[in-house]
Amino acid sequence: MDSYAKLRPWTAIESCQCPKVEGLFLVDLLTDNPLHCDMCRNEVDPERIKLTAQAIRKGTLIDPKGQVNRDGLEVARTLSMRIPSRLLFFDDTDDDLPESCPICQARLDQNVKWGIGKCPNCPIRI
Ligand SMILES: [Zn+2]
Ligand SMILES: [Zn+2]
Repeated sequence: MDSYAKLRPWTAIESCQCPKVEGLFLVDLLTDNPLHCDMCRNEVDPERIKLTAQAIRKGTLIDPKGQVNRDGLEVARTLSMRIPSRLLFFDDTDDDLPESCPICQARLDQNVKWGIGKCPNCPIRI
């Protein structure tokens, strides 16, 4: 099975139906298809946006032990060369909702359609 076949959603039910994918976010990089539409949040078929096999492979060869976030940022940057992409960052603290970026501490841009915010500097969203 090649990278594309492996990453294609195997049902159409949760696939993005937007006429045009204008942005991506990466959810759990350990799942078959970490690519989700920034508009509808459903899965995006990598073939639709003609991602290179290299970019996808980078996104799947992730060390499950703690490397996800760091490597995910790199994948997001790589994908962003084609289409704006952000890594969905899970906040696992019990604190109140974060107001600043966990990486660079910049104040989050909270003008987002869903979630808490996005960093003006890093390819993440929370
Ligand atoms: Zn969509
Ligand atoms: Zn940041």
